[in-house]
Amino acid sequence: MPELPEVETIARDLRGLVTGARIVDASSNWPPTLRSHEQEAFALAVAGREIEGVGRRGKQLLVWLGPSPAPGPVPVAAEPAVLTVHLKMTGQLFVVAAGTPQDRHVHVVLALADGRELRFRDMRKFGRMGLYRRDPATGLPLEGEAIGVLATGAEPLADDFTSRRFAELLGYRRGRLKTLLMNQDFLAGVGNIYADEALWRSRLHPLRDAHTLRADDIRRLHKALRDVLAEAVERRGSSVDDYTAPEGDGSMQEHLQVYQRGGEPCDRCGRPIRRIVVGGRSTHFCSWCQRLPAEQRKAAGKLLRSAWDGGGGERRREGPAAARTRRGPRWTELSGEGALGRTRDEEARARRIAATRKAAATRRAAARAGGSA
Ligand SMILES: [Zn+2]
Repeated sequence: MPELPEVETIARDLRGLVTGARIVDASSNWPPTLRSHEQEAFALAVAGREIEGVGRRGKQLLVWLGPSPAPGPVPVAAEPAVLTVHLKMTGQLFVVAAGTPQDRHVHVVLALADGRELRFRDMRKFGRMGLYRRDPATGLPLEGEAIGVLATGAEPLADDFTSRRFAELLGYRRGRLKTLLMNQDFLAGVGNIYADEALWRSRLHPLRDAHTLRADDIRRLHKALRDVLAEAVERRGSSVDDYTAPEGDGSMQEHLQVYQRGGEPCDRCGRPIRRIVVGGRSTHFCSWCQRLPAEQRKAAGKLLRSAWDGGGGERRREGPAAARTRRGPRWTELSGEGALGRTRDEEARARRIAATRKAAATRRAAARAGGSA
C-alpha cells in the first residue's frame, strides 16, 4: 500500500500536471469508490471547478478545487472544495490524453477542459474518493464533513515533529512498536514498509513495548523515521506491487534493507532477515541487530518461534543465549551474495522473487499505457 513517500510523490507529480486545469465532467463505474456522493451528484459537484493545487495528509491525497461557477442543487456546490483520494492497496492516478485506451480497472475519470483526463485506476477496488467543503485555513475538509476519513496522527516530516514531540506522544502509549508506528492516529503516513525500515535503522525490535523505550532509543527512532521517509520521497517512493506515480515509478525499493527481504543477509551483520506476522502484517527484522529485552521475550515467544528466515524450513531459538552457543554463522545463513552455495529452496525462492518483481513492473507499465494487465 502506498505510504507517505509514495503519496507525497503522487501529490508533487499531480501538482505540476493539473494545477490550473478545469474539470468539465466526471464519470465512475464503481459506486463504492465515491464515498461522499452518488455518481451523478459527484459529476455535477465537480464540473466547472478549477484544480487549485494538490496536497497530502498522511496517506491521503488532497486535490483542492475552486468554487463551482454554476452551483446546482447538489451538496458542496458553491464553495471551495477538497477531493480526498485514498489509494489503499492498488490505486493509481494517471493524467492522459482523452483518447488513450482505458482498461476495465479505471473506475473514476475526471475530464479536463484541455483535452486530458485524470484517471483513477484501482484493480482491487479498495480505493476511495470523497468530495467535501474545504476549510480555507487548513485545506482539509470542514470540521464534521469527513468523519473518520483523515488520519489524526502527527505528520512525521513536519517541522514541528521534533524528537521532543515524539517523546511526548510516546509517553501515553503502550503496545508493540510495529503496531503503534502503523497506527494512523499516532503517526500519519507510516505503513508496513517504512515501519520495518525505521525499526531496523534504529536497531529496535518490532515487538518491543513502546513504553520501555529509553531517551536515546526515542531519539534514534525519531531520526530513523524522518531519514527513511525523506530518502524515500527523494527516490519517488518504493515501486513494489502496484505503486507507480503519474510521472513514473520510484526507486526506493532498491534501497530497502529489510522489507520483503526475508532470508537475505542483513546489511549490517550478514545474518538472515527474519519475517514474522504481527497483527496480520508481515514484519521483517534482524534478530541480531534488533534485540528484544529479556523480560519481553517470553510474551513474544510464540510469535518469535514462527519466525521464518528462508533457511530450509529450520526453526531456531531467538536471543543471546542461542547465539552464544553457536560457532560462526550456520550454513543456512550463508545465502545471498558471496555464499558458498544455495540450497534448492533458496534458488527457487530467488527465482520466485525475481519473477514477482518483473511481473509487477510489467503490470505497472501496462497500466500506464492504458492496456489491460
Ligand atoms: Zn543484522
